Amino acid sequence: MVGIVFNSFNFYDFFNFFNSSIPKSMNIYLTVMGSGAASPTGKRHCSAQVLNIRGFKLLIDCAEGTQDRIRQHHLKLQSISTIVISHLHGDHFFGLPGLLSTMHLCGRTEPATIVAPKGAKQVIETIFELTGNHIEYPIDWREMDFEEGEQRVFENNKCTVDAFRIDHSVPTYGFRIATVPSPYATDKSPLIYAYCCDTAYDEAILPHIAGAGLLCLECTFANELAELAEQRKHLTAGQAGRLAQKAGVKQLLLTHLSARYKEPDVLLQQAREEFAESIIATDGMRMEITANGTIMNEL
Ligand SMILES: [Zn+2]
Ligand SMILES: [Zn+2]
Repeated sequence: MVGIVFNSFNFYDFFNFFNSSIPKSMNIYLTVMGSGAASPTGKRHCSAQVLNIRGFKLLIDCAEGTQDRIRQHHLKLQSISTIVISHLHGDHFFGLPGLLSTMHLCGRTEPATIVAPKGAKQVIETIFELTGNHIEYPIDWREMDFEEGEQRVFENNKCTVDAFRIDHSVPTYGFRIATVPSPYATDKSPLIYAYCCDTAYDEAILPHIAGAGLLCLECTFANELAELAEQRKHLTAGQAGRLAQKAGVKQLLLTHLSARYKEPDVLLQQAREEFAESIIATDGMRMEITANGTIMNEL
């Protein structure tokens, strides 16, 4: 009994409850590490985000250079214990071996949980084996290999993560992350963050992303390149806006922008024609997701 009480105790929640300067809410914070598609540019790194739910940090995708970005944004590498990977394309995955290796070199002993499509474990273990690197901390691999429905891939006392298949050129999963109410919170309704990157236009995702406070969708191309988007199984800005509008989300965050758009105004305008509450992600952007909508925070 004592063990159960101790396990459910959380210093952050406890402190939050007694500290009047911190709102007694369940707000969560999203920091965008990379918002570009395909390959990094001077302006945009590729996909990676950190979601901070009352001190629990979830890394979503891990493109090349993510460990560097995490440090730049003053987040401690070792504070990340759970990583979810949407798919194994390099612009979402190539940062993972480097990140795991650095965690080892910095003396990590705490276990890590990695949720990724089938094959990720083999890739990482092969890299470590052939390059003579190794890691000593335990990894709880949770590989996804399903096509239908939604599966719970992670849960703790801060959030649940449900995964669902989305339509891309390799097996790819979207995530619906819902907060678990703090025992001290006055508002017990969960906040929902949904992430789909990369995907073709497919209304089958609507039930999975419905009602999200913040929905992050890829937006690789402008509407004029709809044919190319279809071929490569990506979204146009207009299609992303339409999905957000149909799903009834509060706000849409557009990410995974093609490097051809030096100024993303055209993408924003096209998305807003379908869904007014659209914003474009930039590297380093920090957002606070609240029950009433999303607030932009300067770092
Ligand atoms: Zn991509
Ligand atoms: Zn991809």
